Amino acid sequence: MSQYAVTNPATNLVEETFESCTDQDIENALDAAAQAYAQWGRRTSKSERADLLAKVADIYMDRQEELATIINHEMGKSMEESRGEVEFASEIYRYYARNGVAFLEDEPIDRVSEGSAVLRKMPIGVLMGVMPWNYPYYQVARFAGPNLMLGNTILLKHASMCPKSAKVMGEIFLEAGFPVGAYTNVFASFEQVNTIIADPRVRGVSLTGSERAGVKIAQEAGANLKKVVCELGGNDPFIVLGAEDLDDVVEAAVVGRFENVGQVCNGAKRFIILDSLYQEFLGKFKDAASKVTLAPMCSLAAAEHLSAQVHHALDEGAKLELGSAENDGAYFQPTILTDIPQGASVRYEEFFGPVAQFYSVASEQEAVELANDTPYGLGSYVFSADREQALRVADALEAGMTYINEAGADSAELPFGGVKNSGFGREMGSLGITEFVNMKLVTSR
Ligand code: NDP
Repeated sequence: MSQYAVTNPATNLVEETFESCTDQDIENALDAAAQAYAQWGRRTSKSERADLLAKVADIYMDRQEELATIINHEMGKSMEESRGEVEFASEIYRYYARNGVAFLEDEPIDRVSEGSAVLRKMPIGVLMGVMPWNYPYYQVARFAGPNLMLGNTILLKHASMCPKSAKVMGEIFLEAGFPVGAYTNVFASFEQVNTIIADPRVRGVSLTGSERAGVKIAQEAGANLKKVVCELGGNDPFIVLGAEDLDDVVEAAVVGRFENVGQVCNGAKRFIILDSLYQEFLGKFKDAASKVTLAPMCSLAAAEHLSAQVHHALDEGAKLELGSAENDGAYFQPTILTDIPQGASVRYEEFFGPVAQFYSVASEQEAVELANDTPYGLGSYVFSADREQALRVADALEAGMTYINEAGADSAELPFGGVKNSGFGREMGSLGITEFVNMKLVTSR
């Protein structure tokens, strides 16, 4: 059972604890969500819902400092990055407020036979969201923004380490004018999540988190015939085949690996460098990485887990080029692993923290093969001065997203999601509003 508490990773002190839901609380939340769907989600106009989302976007910016401070305490994110995350969440709500009405316009169909036909975009009902701690506001915004725009209503189980941001998000929707039940935060146990998924009032489930949680939640959703979106982990390749200015590539690589202390599902994790550039790139990256000052990881347990992974890599024959296998409380220094042998199991593991794996390759083809040699398929990065080559490599990569000559480019209008064990479904952009929609055919003659 999840224990909802704020434990500041910088001090490892418990700052606040929160009561878990009783089964009656869960039943009440389900009832309120179903009623809000029937009376609000089905009856309000698109523009009314867009106006409410615009208010949410405003409130995030009005309360930016307060919201940033909450996640700084909960999961250790630096204040600068925390402010940036609050702003990004606000941008996502504003994006759906501005574009939602157009996204939900009817789509006429050219009929072969007589009469007219149209696809109307309707909500499907109550949704269950299960969200992670690495971007407490942004992850929720990607799910809640488009779905509240559609008129779906939401029950949200957030990570047990960020209950305060979870609670305040629920309050913000009410403050913006959403009715009770449109969005309900639940401090639920895993069993209660299963109860919610099985409930006939709930029509879809969205998870962002680990592969392990994805397996459990998708199983439960499948057993109950509920649509599910899974945004899981990644082991994203960062391929360097050429550059007009290698320093720019190194700068992107450092952002790609160390943003959010490396706790980013589509962060650059495996650096795959053409052999003619390898030593120079590694030298410059090492130099830049050694100057990065990192905030703590999200928890002592996360840092200990990363330490165990680095130890395992060294046991398997990898070389420590920078950093250390040891954590200092929840802190972990920028670390580089090289010479990771063929067949080592750590090649296939996601390191969810500030550890970069480096590989040297002899050709474009070898780079692609190594990049695709992973169970994951979330993001990927290609750097080349040759545009055709970059596009060719992008096409060959088994990933949901390829970023050419840039990193850290996430933005509200750019769809986000993966293939293979990184999950299925897309969030953000115009696609983010199509996951839990009833594309209802209405014909007439
Ligand atoms: P989890 O997948 O355990 O947590 C994500 C969310 O899922 C949390 O709300 C968690 O609840 C919940 N959850 C986990 N298992 C279940 C279950 N059986 N039933 C219902 N809810 C469940 O991630 P971790 O915190 O353990 O992070 C570890 C790994 O997850 C990372 O190494 C990374 O690979 C991946 N991850 C990926 C993220 C992404 O953005 N794609 C984000 C965060 C993590 P609770 O907090 O109560 O355990």
